[in-house]
Parts: sequence; structure tokens; C-alpha cells
Amino acid sequence: MSQLFEDFKKYLHEVNVYDHVTTLLYWDMRTDTPKLGQQDHIDALTEFSTKSFKMSTSPKLGEMLDALSKPEEYNALDETYQFIVHRMKLDFDRNKRIPADFYEAYVREQAESGNAWEAAKNASDFSIFAPHLKKMVEMTKEMTGYTDPGIETYDALLNQFEEGMDSATIDRLFDDLKKELIPLVDKITAKPKPYVPALHSYADPDSQKKIQKLLLDYIGFNWDAGAVGETEHPFTLNFSSKDVRVTNHYYDTEPLFALFSSIHEGGHAIFEQNVNPAYDHTVAGSCRYMGIHESQSRFYENILGRNKNFWIPIYDQLKELLPQLKDVSLDEFYREINCVQNSMIRTDADEVTYCFHIILRYEMEKTIFRENVPVEDLPALWNQKMQEYLKITPQNDAEGILQDMHWSDGSFGYFPSYLLGSIYDGMYLEVLEKDLGSVDTLLADGKIGEITKWLNEKIHRYGSTRTPEEMIDAVCHKPVSAEPLIRYFKKKYTEVYDL
Ligand code: ZN
Repeated sequence: MSQLFEDFKKYLHEVNVYDHVTTLLYWDMRTDTPKLGQQDHIDALTEFSTKSFKMSTSPKLGEMLDALSKPEEYNALDETYQFIVHRMKLDFDRNKRIPADFYEAYVREQAESGNAWEAAKNASDFSIFAPHLKKMVEMTKEMTGYTDPGIETYDALLNQFEEGMDSATIDRLFDDLKKELIPLVDKITAKPKPYVPALHSYADPDSQKKIQKLLLDYIGFNWDAGAVGETEHPFTLNFSSKDVRVTNHYYDTEPLFALFSSIHEGGHAIFEQNVNPAYDHTVAGSCRYMGIHESQSRFYENILGRNKNFWIPIYDQLKELLPQLKDVSLDEFYREINCVQNSMIRTDADEVTYCFHIILRYEMEKTIFRENVPVEDLPALWNQKMQEYLKITPQNDAEGILQDMHWSDGSFGYFPSYLLGSIYDGMYLEVLEKDLGSVDTLLADGKIGEITKWLNEKIHRYGSTRTPEEMIDAVCHKPVSAEPLIRYFKKKYTEVYDL
């Protein structure tokens, strides 16, 4: 090993220590930090992430990356480190154009805007959040001007979350979905809606936590490399494949929320826990592509978790923890968890109308960045689109435009990833069934572990080393298409609703 390579690894380790603390501060702010303690955390978080950012853009690192990219050094590296050096050099060249003082101001505004969003949502008052949103939009434009000069802002943002994606491709995929799903939802909603009151009645939060434990165990979450916390909005966060945290929120009378959030976040976590550990603490590890990430959480939540057979091996255990299910048959439960209806809140939406929630946000974001609509006009635009796609109008901002936190930290361009994830899932499902046989049978026989193993081998272990395009090509051998997802929806809901 050359001295240069030794120095490089040492330097990476030092950056990681700062990132580790940043991650820990973020975790603590969202889970346990009391309100009055937030500001000190923001100060420390800003300091640590600025330090890490400076180290990731320092001339010293630039020189090391240049030297390691020369053939005599590069060819001596193993495949993993060749990837790491190549990827870091790309990131370095993008990030070094961001002025450090701008970066620091951006991180601070992210944290403050996040807190303003929370206050605005609690008060159901968009005007509290509006000035921060305006600032985040402006700062995001400035940021992409540095990172992706010459590329239109919104396309640059899409590409940041899902490399290789642009709005032309997404327009095509989402248009295909709209064409087929609007009439499908019309047909479904004309049918009687299932309603099991027991599933909308009081469920002790402790029991909900036990159900979460049962479900995480069942799908293959590794407790030696994982932990659980409680937050307003569920999320997954990881330090490495050896420490992956999920959060949940337990609503007193809506136990299905925490139940499906457990499976969703569990899907993200199983992905991260099964990335090749040799990639830990490097750019090859933790999957950076949000659509690929969402494809895994949504595969567990929807393709598996909303399949009747998923519940066959554990329904009795679920009934013990949720006594109100005593007289609810598995069939009734199954119909209830696949109840399709136009509703206000994205995270409560069924898997079909969910698509419209994303299409709405995607179109809003295009408008924000391409038509420069004043932020004050956004709530009305939101409500207008809700009426267009979901045929309902929010009563207030909390159940309208303030429901999601994404725009508060500048995650514009993230929303389409959720739906891309489902589109990939349609494609994966077809290949998985070719390889392993019917998912219905595997689940009914309690062989969910075989499905997890397949996902581990085909997808999880690669971490960030394959771009979305490369991943889809390697697993499915064809370009991305919404057709398999549309087929899945039509087949499933024709049967559930007897269309
Ligand atoms: Zn997710």
C-alpha cells in the first residue's frame, strides 16, 4: 500500500468522525432534544457539518484525489477503492465550487426552516413558513448554480436524488400512469368502500410498539445493527451497515399508520444493513439514490405488506397484540388495508392514489422552479391540484401544503423518487417471480426470508455502486417503464374490488 493511499484512508476516517457526530446530532434533535435545547444543537450541527464540508472540498483532498486518479496509483487500487476515488473526484469537482460561507448559511437555514415548518404545521398557518420556503427556494437555485452550472435547476435537482433522471423521462412515466390510473380509481371508488371500525379504534401505543417489533423481526431487521426511536414523521437514518435507526409515530386510534410505517422504514433499514460492509463509511456504502431506496421500502410496505399472504403466518400474533381484531377475518383485514380512496395526506394514502399525491408535488415543484410562482400563491395552487387529481380540497394548510417536511430542508426534487420506487418495484416483482416463483406462495408458506435474500443479493449489497439505470439494467435487463406497475395495480384491484 502506498503512503499516498495510507494518507487518503486516514483523511477519510477523519471526515467520517465529523459526519458521525453530525448524524448523531440530527438523530437526537429529531427524537429527544427538548425545544429549548434545539438552538445549541443547531449551532453544534452547523459547526460539525461545515467542518466536514470543508474537509471534503479542501485542496489537500483535491491533490490526493488527483494523484490517486493517475494510472500508476489507480491501477494498484482494488475495485472498491477505484470506485471510491472516481466517485469522490466527481463529487469533489462539484462541491468545491460551493463557497464555504454560503454552505454554512445554507445548513443553518435548513435547520431553522425545519423548525419554522414544524411551528407552521402545528399552527396550521402557512405564513409562518412562507419566508423560509422563499429563502430555501432561492438558496437551492444558488446551490445548483454552483454544483451544476449550465443545467436547469429542477433537472439538476432530479438528477441529484436519482442520477440519470430528468423531467422528460419522468413526464413520460407519470403520463403513462395518469392515463391508466385515473379511470382505474374512478371504477374503484364507484364500488362500496370497505370499512372495519375496529381498525380505526383505540390501540395502546405500547401494543403498537410490540407490533412494530413483530413486523421488523418478521421481515428480517437486524436488531444487533439497528434501533428504534419516536418522531413526528417516521424516517430511517444510518451511520453504517452496522447502525441503522428507524423512527415511527403512534396514533392512538389509527394503528395501521404505525404498522405500515414499521414495514416501510424497515425496508429502508434492511437495505442499509445489507450493504457490503466493505463499503461502510465511504461513498460506495449507504445508497445515495432515493428512487432505488424508496423501491425497497415500498416493496416491503406495498408489494409484500399489502399482500394477503404476507399476513397468513403472523395474523394470529397480530390479533393477540391488537385485540380489536378478534372478530375481524383475514379477508376483511386484507380489504381494509387495500382500501382505495381519495384522501388528503400523502403518507396515509393507499398505494394507488399515492401516485396522484406525488404527481401533484412534482408538478408543483416544476412550477416553483420554472415559472417562479410567488410562495404566497402556492397554497391555492396546491388546493387546486388536489381538486383536479383527488377531487377533494384541504380545509387548512396543515392538511394541505404543510403536510410534508421535504421542502423545509430544501429537498426539492425528492418527491418523484417515491413514485419511481414503485415503478421499479413493478419491474422487480416480475423478475423476482421468474426467479423464485409466485410471491403469493412464498409468503403464504412463511418464506419471506427467501424474498429478502433475493433483494439482498440483487440490490442491497451494491449500496451506491450502481446508478439507478445500471441497477434496473442489471436486475431487469430493460429500460425503466411504468407498464409492470400498471399491470400489478390492475390485476390486484380488479380482484380486491371485483371490478
Ligand atoms: Zn421512505
